[in-house]
Amino acid sequence: MTAAAVREVLLAEPRGFCAGVDRAIEIVERALAKFGTPVYVRHEIVHNRHVVEGLRARGAVFVEDLAEVPPGAVLVFSAHGVSRAVQQEAQRRGFRIFDATCPLVTKVHVEVAKLRREGYEFILIGHAGHPEVEGTMGQVDDGIHLVQTLDDVAHVRPSQTERLAVVTQTTLSVDDTAEILAALRARFPGLREPKQQDICYATQNRQDAVKALARQVDVVVVVGSPSSSNTNRLRELAERLGVPAYMVEDASQLRDEWFAQAPRVGVTAGASAPEALVQGVVQRLKGLGATAVRRMAGPVETMRFPLPKGLKGMAGQARGMP
Ligand code: SF4
Repeated sequence: MTAAAVREVLLAEPRGFCAGVDRAIEIVERALAKFGTPVYVRHEIVHNRHVVEGLRARGAVFVEDLAEVPPGAVLVFSAHGVSRAVQQEAQRRGFRIFDATCPLVTKVHVEVAKLRREGYEFILIGHAGHPEVEGTMGQVDDGIHLVQTLDDVAHVRPSQTERLAVVTQTTLSVDDTAEILAALRARFPGLREPKQQDICYATQNRQDAVKALARQVDVVVVVGSPSSSNTNRLRELAERLGVPAYMVEDASQLRDEWFAQAPRVGVTAGASAPEALVQGVVQRLKGLGATAVRRMAGPVETMRFPLPKGLKGMAGQARGMP
């Protein structure tokens, strides 16, 4: 095995949980505390294996299909949001519903539904198959076109261009999206854009932080699960800046050879990765020789989202992570 040469660990700031993830997990925890087990959750509440396994051990049942949920059960929608069809089916089946959709995703849903009523067609920049994209596209019956790449911009065919608006998935690469938006503006000069970009503050902040981090380290470790969109973007961004970057779900996935030529290791985490997992990675890096752990300077996030009615005002359960 190659001897590791780690001396220093730099922690990106901010990293890890965002307000939407924090709220979504708290909704499941509070629902378990109030209603007992099982609490059904449509899709992984957030895209992190450890979070999902932790909640499953406490009585959450994760399903993709509402037919798996018995009538009258407590059902939580995941942070990624759902289509109108899923909402309607859940109501029809008589579940007690708590919506953990991130309010910043709901904002996009509201915008899409409102402008569609005014006759707008939409271009949605996002990744096909991601649940957030399915939920946003499912806010309207038609008139929404998915664009994933610069190449797609040339081929998208709205039925008219007088009333054409653009929205994006909240967890995209800020830089890639800026390029796609520029190409869309060039092709559709009247394109209506959101007043405030749809890429959320947490995605923006974590990408800014990883840019600053990558300039100062030899290797970047990104803690998070492969299903997490914003986590993947962090790893790609570091790599694009010329630094080897690895995504791990926890410390057990670290490989000594990554650090053989890496005295300074940068560590960050996607918005759905618990801090306990980051600390596990730091401990492992200490075991490889790191004697200093330094937090980078970065913005302090104070965003908080209110809980849904019916779950407010009760004592929250302590986080049982990892
Ligand atoms: Fe909300 Fe952004 Fe967090 Fe997604 S990453 S849950 S949009 S705050």
